[in-house]
Formats: sequence, structure tokens, C-alpha cells
Amino acid sequence: MSKFWSPAIQSLVPYTPGEQPKVLDLIKLNTNENPYPPSPAVNEALCSFAIERLRLYPDPDSSQLKQALAQYHQLSEDQVFLGNGSDEVLALAFMAFFRQSKPLLMPAVTYSFYQVYCDLFQIQFRCEPLADDFSIDLSRYSEQNGGIIFANPNAPTGIPVPLTEIEALLQRNRDSLVLVDEAYVDFGGESAIGLIDRYPNLLVTHTFSKSRSLAGLRIGAAFGHPELIAGLERVKNSFNSYPLDMLAVTAAVASVQDDAYFRDICQRIISTRESTVCALKQLGFDVLPSASNFVFVRHPSITGSDLMQFLRERKLLVRHFNRPGLDAFLRITIGTDAEMQTLIDTLHSHPQLAGNH
Ligand SMILES: *Cc1c(COP(=O)(O)O)cnc(C)c1O
Repeated sequence: MSKFWSPAIQSLVPYTPGEQPKVLDLIKLNTNENPYPPSPAVNEALCSFAIERLRLYPDPDSSQLKQALAQYHQLSEDQVFLGNGSDEVLALAFMAFFRQSKPLLMPAVTYSFYQVYCDLFQIQFRCEPLADDFSIDLSRYSEQNGGIIFANPNAPTGIPVPLTEIEALLQRNRDSLVLVDEAYVDFGGESAIGLIDRYPNLLVTHTFSKSRSLAGLRIGAAFGHPELIAGLERVKNSFNSYPLDMLAVTAAVASVQDDAYFRDICQRIISTRESTVCALKQLGFDVLPSASNFVFVRHPSITGSDLMQFLRERKLLVRHFNRPGLDAFLRITIGTDAEMQTLIDTLHSHPQLAGNH
């Protein structure tokens, strides 16, 4: 704390990202990164990048990537917005759309960054409880609001919301913006991008950090009606004209163009997830139905923090949220088959789990 801090900053509680350990001998299943490398096309594109170009500023519109994504999703370029990670895209969207007199609605359990942005931008919000099975119950989102945001599939539960329910929500809320954060949609969710042409109140965000194995480059996107995109551009151009650097754009374009690799990696993670879910259930875990690259699990007789500690001592990093209602759970990122086998074998060696098959 310093007297020089702005008053609003003194009470901020920043987002806590999952640990990025300095030592490399850990199996990292704590921040939903992809266990596979980016497409070989990314490697080629970066290796043949002419370093000389770096003396110039990048294209402020990242047009090459806009074009590639527009084509990929069958949209026009003015329906695409890009930012330095989807966290930045979300921050700009909160600034552009959610500073309203009515509260923003969000699930009581969802990506915790949303509340941090509300604090930062002084946006009022209301949390809607999850249903008893931990799914998002969009029928509850019926009060007057200054916008609605949720992740689909949700984080950290991994549970998806059916597209039909999102469409019904959009119809009931024609006067407010609905932001669907699809960070994990490529692992089995249904994307709402197809609804953009019919619902000018829909904004969808994506990230290259999870399904495209490019967390280290920070690339995020939003898709929506051209007027929404224009709103985001206004805020972006009032904040940072060049959010994406040349290397990020180069890599991202190469990634989008190699669809076969992308689909293969997503499919592999889905199939590893399904075998991991089976193995965890055999060990007695409750596993929420995940359409993501992670599973949210709890054991009826071992606490979440005990399990996290037990795994950590054996060089396996998983995420534990020390929050009422969530503290029984662990969020485990899906790694390679070999990494998940190590996880399962390690759990088998837990005194309270040994003997379970
Ligand atoms: C990981 C994640 C993000 C952030 O993605 P970046 O592009 O890496 O900033 C946004 N929303 C959710 C729900 C996430 O899990």
C-alpha cells in the first residue's frame, strides 16, 4: 500500500493465476494449458519470420489474423475483434459494454476474473446461483440487467450449456448484451458463433491459449455484430493501438490454417479426458460432466486441500480453489495419456484410495 495509489486501486483484489513453477520436473495440470505443442505450421512460420521486420510497429488491426478467423468462422472481418489474450478482450468488453446503471448478471461460480473486472471498472454485478447439479441455470437470468456474462463450458466446473438455452436467453434479453466466453468450447461445447447474425446482442470470446497451445503468445478474439466490434475497437484504440505483436499474429494465422492438426489435438484431449473420467470414478471420485480440457472432481472422504498437497508432494500440480462451496473440489487439467496415467497411479498410492480398482 502506498499513498500514491489511486483510491479505487487500494481496495482491489486482483485475480490470482494458477502457479507457473520455476522448476520443470512437475507435471503441470493446474492452468488448463495444452499438453501438446502448437501446430508444426506455427514452428515453420516463426522460423521463417524475418526478424528485420520487428523494428516496425505491427499492423494495429492485425488484419491478416482477422481475415483468417473471419474465413474460418464464416464471418466478415468487421465481426471479428482481436486482443492480447482473451483476458484483455474481456477487459475491453467490460469497459465498452457493462458500465451500465443496471447490474451485470453472472453465475455465482464462473471464471473469477469477471468479478475482478467489475471491481476494476466499478461495475455492479449480481451472482445467480448454479443449479443443484452445478450447471448454469439460464432460466434464472430474468431480472433487469446491464448485461450477462458466463463461460460456456463453464469454469471451473467444465459443464456446458446447450445452445438452445443460450438462444432463449438472447431472445429474452434483446436489450442487453450477452457475452459468452468460449475459452473451452473446442473440447466438446457448442459454439454460439452461428447465432451472431441473428442476435446483435451476442458477443462470443475465444482464446488461442487452450485448444491452440499458444498460451505463451497471448492471443484472444471476440466475435459479434459489427456495431459491437466497433465499440470494442473504440476502447482498444483509446488504450493500446497494438495489442498483438507480429510474432503472435504470424503464429496465430499459421495455427488457424492448420485445421487438421487442431482437430486432431482436440480429439486426443477429449479421448484422454474420457479415460481419465472413468479411472477417477473407479477411485470413488465424483466427476462433474466436462466438455472442457479439465475435470472438476471431489472425493467423498478426502478434502480437496489434502489431495492437492498429496499430489504436489509427488510432483503433480492441480488447482484447488479455497472458496466456500468449491473447496472440496480439485480442477485437474487433461494432459497427455502418460501424464494422466501418472496421476491415476499416484492417486492409487494414497492411503485412503489404495486398494480401489
Ligand atoms: C483461460 C481463460 C481465459 C483467458 O484466456 P487468455 O486468452 O489466456 O487470456 C478466459 N476465460 C476463461 C473462462 C478461461 O479459462
